[in-house]
Amino acid sequence: MSIETITEKSLRGDELTKQECMEVLDYPDEGILEILDAAYRVRKKYFGNRVQVQMLLNAKSGMCSENCGYCTQSGVSEADIKEFPLRPAAELVAGAVSAKKSGASRFCMALSGIRYDDGLIEKLAESIRAVKKEADISLCCSMGFLKPAQADKLKKAGLDRINHNLNTEKNFYANICTTHTWDERVQNIKTCREAGLEICSGGIIGLGEGKQGAAELFMELKKLRPDSIPVNFYIPVRGTPLEKKGEKLTPHYCLKALCLARFSNPDSDIRAAGGREYHLRSMQGLALYAVNSIFVSGYLTTGGQPAGEGFQMIKDMGFEAEIEGVE
Ligand code: SF4
Repeated sequence: MSIETITEKSLRGDELTKQECMEVLDYPDEGILEILDAAYRVRKKYFGNRVQVQMLLNAKSGMCSENCGYCTQSGVSEADIKEFPLRPAAELVAGAVSAKKSGASRFCMALSGIRYDDGLIEKLAESIRAVKKEADISLCCSMGFLKPAQADKLKKAGLDRINHNLNTEKNFYANICTTHTWDERVQNIKTCREAGLEICSGGIIGLGEGKQGAAELFMELKKLRPDSIPVNFYIPVRGTPLEKKGEKLTPHYCLKALCLARFSNPDSDIRAAGGREYHLRSMQGLALYAVNSIFVSGYLTTGGQPAGEGFQMIKDMGFEAEIEGVE
């Protein structure tokens, strides 16, 4: 199987086989420009040279009941992070207004936790209404499980999109979390979609899933057809259970994983998310040949590329930021 065949299949929207996925991840490092060029052909068909820029705000931090081994906010993590309940509406509005002023096309609010009481969902719905009134920006919430009525309430309040990641492939899931299941995650995605929310769902590369696991993850995502797929690269954090278990990632492997995300999900937004700066280092501009979306200004509990540098990188690489509402 040649990369040309894989590219043609991707351009047609055909599902890739496991063997084809592995071929992308196993592609020789010295051929990185060839494979990026092939991924770019697919990216260009659906997204031209446009890059969405998104900003993330940690809206509710820590105190989570779950034991996701990579997460600094889990109940079993000893990492030193700031914990706080849902931020007041005024702070969320200020974050969204600032994201819009910076030129971001979407504002993402992340809430720790897996299940939420109706009181919190009501407060969040009020904040969403306030954000939509003041900032009029596309809005995503990164959250745990929602009951159908809760998903419905958030959608009616104006929420556009929900982020709920698969994180890793089904058979590896118990290695990273035992307090809930992969199937529950899939069910939650279905619940949110039924409420009319757009779906953002991706994963984390480098948790120990290996190439086979990464290939499975992208194949499973293809079945779910998310509107958007964030690809995170695992950064070990001291005090978390997976601190010493992550994989050693190279910039070349990370780029190949982004190419695979593109080939296997050609018309979904592919976002280079957490770990981009840390693992791709000086090669991160090349990611734009495969992805059409990036975060700027940092992640949940780790810093990231400042917005100005992100926009400059996009321009320097010959791509165009999708800017909305710059004042
Ligand atoms: S459910 Fe979310 S916030 Fe809680 S430990 Fe897992 S990843 Fe972290």
